[in-house]
Amino acid sequence: MQINLSDKIFNVITDIVSEKKAACYVIGGYVRDHLLGRPSKDIDFVVAGSGIELAKQVASRLGKKVKVNVFKNFGTAMIKYRDYELEFVGARKESYARNSRKPIVENGTIEEDQKRRDFTINALAVSLNPENFGELIDPFNGLEDLKNKIIRTPLDPGTTYSDDPLRMMRAIRFAVQLNFSVEEYSLKAIFENRERVKIISGERVIDELNKIMATHKPSQGYRLLDKTGLLEIILPELHAMKGVDVKEGKGHKDNFYHSLQVLDNIAAKTDNIWLKWAALLHDVGKPPTKYYDPQTGWTFHGHDYLGSKMIPSVFRRLKLPLGPNLQYVQKLVKLHLRPIALIDEDVTDSAVRRLLFEAGDDIDDLMTLCEADITSKNDAKVRQYLSNFKLVRKKLVEIEEKDHIRNFQPPVDGEIIMKTFGIQPCKEVGVIKNIIKEAILDGKISNNYDEAFDLMLNTGKELGLKPVS
Ligand code: ATP
Ligand code: MG
Repeated sequence: MQINLSDKIFNVITDIVSEKKAACYVIGGYVRDHLLGRPSKDIDFVVAGSGIELAKQVASRLGKKVKVNVFKNFGTAMIKYRDYELEFVGARKESYARNSRKPIVENGTIEEDQKRRDFTINALAVSLNPENFGELIDPFNGLEDLKNKIIRTPLDPGTTYSDDPLRMMRAIRFAVQLNFSVEEYSLKAIFENRERVKIISGERVIDELNKIMATHKPSQGYRLLDKTGLLEIILPELHAMKGVDVKEGKGHKDNFYHSLQVLDNIAAKTDNIWLKWAALLHDVGKPPTKYYDPQTGWTFHGHDYLGSKMIPSVFRRLKLPLGPNLQYVQKLVKLHLRPIALIDEDVTDSAVRRLLFEAGDDIDDLMTLCEADITSKNDAKVRQYLSNFKLVRKKLVEIEEKDHIRNFQPPVDGEIIMKTFGIQPCKEVGVIKNIIKEAILDGKISNNYDEAFDLMLNTGKELGLKPVS
């Protein structure tokens, strides 16, 4: 089969190859995506001989300013040209030691290079050689698998996944990204080799998880991770949410599948990866708080609070960043039940102010999470809940317009308190600050300097403090 490679880059390479009597092929993701009609700017070239040498020659033909980045240890070279990233590597043959995903590499032929690729659809190559320019080289029927939407390994799946367990994560990620299925032998081999995922660095695992998160229906990835036994190893907290207990004929919902639904609902609304993590993890506190009360049935009291406390260890294990994104996810998990409490018509302004204060700028994301958390199969119920939350959003807007609580810092701060009473930092400063904050949130005083200052003077007096004149 002929592939139409029209970009000038390919002709430049063919010219060099024919002069030097070398051989070069486009291989991997670019070929796959080209055939799938997914435009891609990363192109991998495999060369019979030195990839670095060819890259240098290509760069000099593309223009004086075109630079080559050489990675000598890997025997690869990279050129950034226009918005392309061109990667050159010599054809190689690989063998693996049991305890490492780093192979022993030797020079090889293009066929041997195709054999070391993870999936048949990633082993497709297109010749850039003058005698058969544009011909698809497809020794493992990758084209057939592309048509049938199948993820399959070129060689024995057991060996393929055991050699480099990252491929287990990649198989699932590609299946979700491309909407393909992983063939049965692969699924079985992944299950059998699941423990080997432990030798992959956390960074590589999270890379794949985040690529799954970026798809339209990330739940599919987590279902596959579960089916292959990987989930229990990489995200045991999520796995623990699986299943339904029944007591006295009463069951609760399966919190794993519920969380996946919430995740898909969120993915339909936003690209915010951290909001997606919050959606996936919002109920992680449920298994350890599960309790059956003969009167009321299943309860998960405090799962919001406990769940938020569990997030840091999940982030640490997955090598997710521990800064503001972690705090954001913790905050959303902790507050995810609070808007429900505001649905009540008689809810006080003070309760609304308190949520605005605690959520700050993340209040909209919190509402988006709450709306995604509605997973009832009863359409009438869903409509009812959504319209309830619409009213909550309205209340939030009204109170915010009136009281400006979202990014509120009490108008009288510690500095002013210390200066007014001529005191150093001490317990009393904290007490006064807190009383002012609470009074504003409770609506006892307005959110302005004068009223806060008066309250400070009165509170100071009660504490035995005198203003210095
Ligand atoms: P994308 O860039 O969209 O993730 P890709 O297929 O280009 O997809 P890369 O990680 O860029 O993936 O790798 C380029 C090519 O290298 C792949 O198409 C595949 O042929 C090969 N490859 C990458 N990782 C592995 C691996 N772990 N085992 C075997 N072959 C791999
Ligand atoms: Mg790529």
